[in-house]
Amino acid sequence: MATEPEHDSLEQVADEVRVCTRCELSRSRTHAVPGEGNPKARVMLIGEGPGWHEDQQGKPFVGASGKFLTELIGHAGLQREDVFITNVVKCRPPGNRDPLPDEIEACSIYLDRQVKLIDPDVIVTLGRFSMSRYFPGERISRIHGQAKEIGHRLVVPMYHPAAALHQGALKATIIEDFEKLPRLLADREKAREAAREKGESATQSSMF
Ligand code: URA
Ligand code: SF4
Repeated sequence: MATEPEHDSLEQVADEVRVCTRCELSRSRTHAVPGEGNPKARVMLIGEGPGWHEDQQGKPFVGASGKFLTELIGHAGLQREDVFITNVVKCRPPGNRDPLPDEIEACSIYLDRQVKLIDPDVIVTLGRFSMSRYFPGERISRIHGQAKEIGHRLVVPMYHPAAALHQGALKATIIEDFEKLPRLLADREKAREAAREKGESATQSSMF
């Protein structure tokens, strides 16, 4: 059963995902793809769903778009090991069709838990399905690369690497958008330090 345990962990989520039958996608998968990366990542990337290669290997973004995503992460001054990568649906939609709303909904319990456990400073959505989670009704062509503060983190919608890979103009755009991440992370770090100092001085002044 997919109830949230009291002491949740990424391993627990992954174990549940691998045997999950909450939606139809469980019937056609070879391997579920829970996601992988640094459990303390400051940046979390959320794609659409596993493709053929990911379904074969049980790992996210290992095909051609994965190779490009690794390159994009480099443009952000990071390595794959620094970030956490997952998808809105953890099982491959047959024939790479779009995930259906009820499949995204059924699978959201896992993504919600992963976001909560990793608690990243920045979430990067890749493509329109993960964008819709944070920007319902928006258009990627209008808002790509624009960070929005949602709760205590920034969410940055980006084009999907598979879409950008083979279209020259989009490719340049997605690279530019990833190049904005180091600045956003540095700003986040500054804001956190300022909040910490404020907290400390508040503690100090309360001692006098
Ligand atoms: N495309 C996605 O959206 N996710 C993957 O894991 C691979 C390709
Ligand atoms: Fe379960 Fe998500 Fe796979 Fe559907 S896509 S079977 S909800 S893990």
